[in-house]
Amino acid sequence: MRRQRSAKIVATLGPASSAPETIAALFHAGVDVFRLNFSHGERSDHQARIKAIRALEKETHRPIGILADLQGPKLRLGTFAEGKVRLKPGAHFRLDLDRKAGDAKRAPLPHPEIFAALEPGTELLLNDGNVRLKVESCGDHFAETLVVDGGELSDRKGVNVPNAVLPLAALTEKDRADLAFALEAGADWIALSFVQRPEDVAEARKLVANRAGIMVKLEKPAAVRRLGEIVELCDALMVARGDLGVEMPPEDVPPIQRQVVHACRLAGKPVIVATQMLESMVHAPVPTRAEASDVATAIYEGADAVMLSAESAAGDFPLEAVTMMDRIVRRVQADPLYHAALHADSSAEPEHTPSDAISAAARQVAHTIGAAAICSYTTSGATALRAARERPDAPILVLTSNLQTARRLALVWGLHCVHARDVTSFSDMVHRATRTAHREGFAERGQRIVITAGVPFGTPGATNVLHIAWVEG
Ligand code: PGA
Ligand code: MN
Repeated sequence: MRRQRSAKIVATLGPASSAPETIAALFHAGVDVFRLNFSHGERSDHQARIKAIRALEKETHRPIGILADLQGPKLRLGTFAEGKVRLKPGAHFRLDLDRKAGDAKRAPLPHPEIFAALEPGTELLLNDGNVRLKVESCGDHFAETLVVDGGELSDRKGVNVPNAVLPLAALTEKDRADLAFALEAGADWIALSFVQRPEDVAEARKLVANRAGIMVKLEKPAAVRRLGEIVELCDALMVARGDLGVEMPPEDVPPIQRQVVHACRLAGKPVIVATQMLESMVHAPVPTRAEASDVATAIYEGADAVMLSAESAAGDFPLEAVTMMDRIVRRVQADPLYHAALHADSSAEPEHTPSDAISAAARQVAHTIGAAAICSYTTSGATALRAARERPDAPILVLTSNLQTARRLALVWGLHCVHARDVTSFSDMVHRATRTAHREGFAERGQRIVITAGVPFGTPGATNVLHIAWVEG
């Protein structure tokens, strides 16, 4: 089965989309990577979803990516005696460590670490930024604040502290337990929420130990300021516009999105644009035209993937949302201006490595001879990432004997991965590539393909061959 687009679709699974037949329908409609959101649901729910995805994989013979998204150190209020309160601008409001239920004058904030990081003038955003407080005075167990923007607060609403780097561990106890579970269950990507500093990524990397790719969710201004270092340390990024848009004013989100997509493109690391993409489809069968345009913009910018959150996890129209996203992406890719924009950026020059030299040559050769596909042999996936970084016109067929590589690369722009046995000889390499390209619907008899590989076979990191072959069908 071949998809008719290069950019990928990530869909979050939730109560609206957990039946195995729903997961299958979403996959057939276009989902390349399924996201499990560990902020919601029980472990048994996630386990059942993973089981359904892997069964579907067997049935369709297509590798499918699974992204386990950890909740991260999200701060939350305690509870209120009446369930909720409404704060008026100009009022005073106290946050403290007292467990007693809150009221209109105070509320529990059960995170001792954060009081130490507050100072007079620090802004706190509550309930997705609907309520804004300014710290007037504080100690190690309380903060007296002034209500700047009033609104409603209720039990366990989120608290964001945009302009401080908080002394919080990158992974909470819950995250560590969820991480162990997700790795054991076979997740291909681990997403880290609320990353504040490059050290947070390093810490997670130690725990993950190469068993999955590490994706950083960019949702803190502090992380944006250290984008370069973070891109270098992670394996992929997500522009998490939900929390990012709470921590920063709305007008800052589009340029940051563009900056992050660009940085990832240069680094050759996959990037997802996420959150509110087709938000109105949570309750409506069609999106607003502005939402369609938002998805299209991410694709024009060169993102590897676009993501659905509540639309597929908890909405009334998960299948319609995936279908709509697929249509929008395909429509953009049919626009000649899309290809022009992708290649206009000359800053994505090849690095001075054999792998980049071969990848750039493969793109050029494929273009010049009108090859039906580029077939790239890879073990770790590194070569395939460099091939995708070139953004060739021809589709890239990845042949790998490593199933985990095939699954992980499902996220990456332009890659169609096939799990295949290792090849042992040059003629075996040519034969397998041409046969696979034909079988997977990429090339017809009489067409040519461009093959890249490393010889001697089985030595990782040694791509050094570019070969043109005819498909004999
Ligand atoms: P979340 O992350 O859905 O886990 O909050 C995405 C975002 O903040 O945009
Ligand atoms: Mn978030």
